[in-house]
Amino acid sequence: MSADHNAFITETSIDPTSDGPLSSATVAVKDNISTAGVRTTCGSAMLEEYVPPYDATVVKRLKAAGATIVGKANMDEFGMGGTTETSAFGPTENPRARDRVAGGSSGGSAAAVAAGKADLALGTDTGGSIRNPAAFCGVVGLKPTYGLVSRYGLIAYANSLEQIGPIAPSVEETAALLDVIAGPDDHDATTHQAGANAAYAAAADGAVDGMTVGVLRSLREGADQRIVDVFEESVAELEAQGATVVEIELDSIEHALAAYYVIAMSEASSNLARFDGVRYGVSGDYEGDWNESFARAREAFGEEVKRRVLLGTYALSAGYHDKYYKKAQDARAWVKRDFDDAFAQADVLASPTMPVLPPEIGDSLGDPLELYRIDANTVPVNLANLPAISVPAGRAEGLPVGLQLVGPAFGEHRIIRAASALD
Ligand code: GLN
Repeated sequence: MSADHNAFITETSIDPTSDGPLSSATVAVKDNISTAGVRTTCGSAMLEEYVPPYDATVVKRLKAAGATIVGKANMDEFGMGGTTETSAFGPTENPRARDRVAGGSSGGSAAAVAAGKADLALGTDTGGSIRNPAAFCGVVGLKPTYGLVSRYGLIAYANSLEQIGPIAPSVEETAALLDVIAGPDDHDATTHQAGANAAYAAAADGAVDGMTVGVLRSLREGADQRIVDVFEESVAELEAQGATVVEIELDSIEHALAAYYVIAMSEASSNLARFDGVRYGVSGDYEGDWNESFARAREAFGEEVKRRVLLGTYALSAGYHDKYYKKAQDARAWVKRDFDDAFAQADVLASPTMPVLPPEIGDSLGDPLELYRIDANTVPVNLANLPAISVPAGRAEGLPVGLQLVGPAFGEHRIIRAASALD
């Protein structure tokens, strides 16, 4: 495979519009984030030649902060996957172990940072897609609280779950990039005042003394023992630095994965309806029959995207809505309540980011359910719209292991502080 690990779908050089805190920094931007005049494919043959007419808000902010964008990063098609193997442009290699996946869906973003092809990167996280590749590639990744970062110009997969967020070699750089992209945006009504002038980078001071860290017991128990060993060492390290460690059980958590996939697929089936070859996407070559033309256009989707559109459409169809979608929403509300209760007992919650070590390239695509299961530790956070960071905890079998810290809504300062104690 190529010398650059196939981290980029498109290499480019987008100049800054002014000087700022990121002057001299190079940034990789995930290829589902719109860049004016530079093609934005979502890792899909459907958008192979799509060139957005405008910049996403986060891209505008990067440029205004002095950053140079060096590439559009590879990703699972429309963000649907956890290994970057569903990309129509081929998988990204893990720079720490070339026969292994880089994780996903923001695999290109994390690999670009791990390989030094970009100083910083933006990813998106719908159910773990920033934290997963950060963990697998041995870098830091942060999924912000829902509403902290504008989604304007992000090509949607599942709107109620996803956020754009930073990936970087260290916690401090991750927080500094968050400082640039966070804050309210007139173009996205879900954005919140909390991100304005929040000074996240200053919170990376390692001052974990006096904090209570709640270990999410069932998420630890579901992980590979080699990962648990590394995780326990990091937790002991936090304790040695003055943190109090308690154990926490979330009763709802066993339902999170099923609820996530019903909700994500339902939203995806609706969002992806616009790719019909007329509004967006490759043409189905109309020959007098629109149905036929639409159907032909949609053949450009890959297997995993088709599977999710079919399942999501089914879950939302009349007669089944209450059985699946409504139940999933009830489970989501339960997960949120459970997290609220947990934050009455702890300042931050900890678990292994991923329950498995990075799989070998080619090993995961055969069994979709198996692939969905590797998201067990990350999706509860998206259901509850909370912030979480993955920070390198050490290595097992020579492969990177990530530790996840979850905070209360808009509690980014806390997770940045605790994570920086491990940096
Ligand atoms: N692996 C999860 C999924 O396929 C998460 C993806 C993401 O966060 N974009 O839905």
